Amino acid sequence: MNIVVIGGGPAGRTAAIEASEIGEDVILIEKDKIGGTCLNEGCMVVCGLNDVARFLTDAKNFSDLGIVAKDYEISFDQITHGIKKIIDKIREVLEVETKEVDVKIVYGDAKPEDNEVVVDGREYEYDKLIISTGSKPFIPPTIEGAQNAIIYKDILKLTKIPDEMVIIGGGVMAAEFAGIFSALGSKVDVLCDYNFLMMLDDDIKKHVVENFLDDVSIHENITVKRIHEAGVSTDRGEFEGLALLAAGMVPNSEIVDGIVDTGRRGEIIVNKRMETSHRGIYAAGDVTGGIGTTPVARMEGVVAARNACGISQEIDYRFIPHAISLYQDIGFISFGNSGEKDKDENKEDEETKKVVEGFIPGSAGPGSFWGVLDGKTGLTKTAVNIETGEIKKLFSVSPSARTTMAYMSFLLRDSYKTQDFDDFLETHPSTDAVYKLMRYFAKFL
Ligand SMILES: Cc1cc2nc3c(=O)[nH]c(=O)nc-3n(C[C@H](O)[C@H](O)[C@H](O)COP(=O)(O)OP(=O)(O)OC[C@H]3O[C@@H](n4cnc5c(N)ncnc54)[C@H](O)[C@@H]3O)c2cc1C
Repeated sequence: MNIVVIGGGPAGRTAAIEASEIGEDVILIEKDKIGGTCLNEGCMVVCGLNDVARFLTDAKNFSDLGIVAKDYEISFDQITHGIKKIIDKIREVLEVETKEVDVKIVYGDAKPEDNEVVVDGREYEYDKLIISTGSKPFIPPTIEGAQNAIIYKDILKLTKIPDEMVIIGGGVMAAEFAGIFSALGSKVDVLCDYNFLMMLDDDIKKHVVENFLDDVSIHENITVKRIHEAGVSTDRGEFEGLALLAAGMVPNSEIVDGIVDTGRRGEIIVNKRMETSHRGIYAAGDVTGGIGTTPVARMEGVVAARNACGISQEIDYRFIPHAISLYQDIGFISFGNSGEKDKDENKEDEETKKVVEGFIPGSAGPGSFWGVLDGKTGLTKTAVNIETGEIKKLFSVSPSARTTMAYMSFLLRDSYKTQDFDDFLETHPSTDAVYKLMRYFAKFL
């Protein structure tokens, strides 16, 4: 069977590898660079910058403690040069890895037509087609002068660290760039049309803002009216600095307009098998407008590929782990679709009464030891049904939160409850406070 995949990001590349390993003939078409947004403009760029930002924060803290002298200069040129070089190397590895499993990579702008995909005038016939064209920045239509702002794609093109930066947006991307540029020395304002980091629990958000974004000015419920070359006009006055638009993403679905059904924001509508409304055409990743993380895009790619190859599988969005990269990681689980919704409201109220919340500060360990005196060891919070042991909420701020959340997601998907952590054996020292909370709640049962 001929399988054509459009888009070589996490969703498409994973789908192509899966289908090829199943034994089908696979062509992966990429119009720009293998690795997609994640490798070339997103996750890895943030990761590279944040490693430097964390180092600078450590250097400042150690300098304040008199341990090291802080008399160095930062070369932003070398930071961007180094990040590009590393990304190029990772991309080479991804390309080799993809070709090694017999996926044929074609570079060019793909346009699907009936039973074939056209790339630069050449036609590629398919039996099954997987669309994984990703997403692009959302430019709010109500904001004038948006062309004066930079977006995440422009970060590696900057030639110097901006003295002042005005970040428009209140989500993960806005928070991460705020933390990074503030550590690099920019004066940062964040403008959110509603609330900042709305997905976080209030205690966790307060802890994050007070401890890890303390040099950033966050303005909530503010309306941006116009972006100028040197600043931003809002309903609460003027903000000076380079504007960075980080107001969310919209799906890249134009190439299938009129071929498959799309939703209000242009997301390709898929069922649980990642099938679109057009028989034989599947979609995966950000183009379906879902959760918008690389691991989810990869998971969707695998499910799309298996179904395209005749292996029936449904996607499972329960207990998705997330992480935000600041000086420490903020990890959390989204519990959406995590079980059958109880339609009986009285029963839901009864359940709410049995749910108890608890939080503890993080422990001293690698990455947090020197934060003990300032109370900067992080915070972990959970909510548990103390009759059943069911875990209802989980947030953690710690140097290890990103890894802990992935394993917690795995255990929750396997129906683990708080009592199952009673004999949990940790390593020491460890900055994972989740198991401590789990053990504490296990005592209630
Ligand atoms: C700044 C930033 C930071 C992020 N950080 C994280 C993070 O830390 N962790 C995390 O999990 N997620 C992160 N994300 C999200 C993550 O990058 C995406 O969820 C992920 O890349 C989605 O994968 P995808 O394959 O669906 O799309 P993409 O990675 O966008 O890949 C789509 C690919 O399709 C190609 N394409 C599009 N149209 C065509 C066409 N017509 N023909 C051929 N090719 C085409 C594009 O060139 C692109 O390579 C971040 C995103 C951004 C913007």
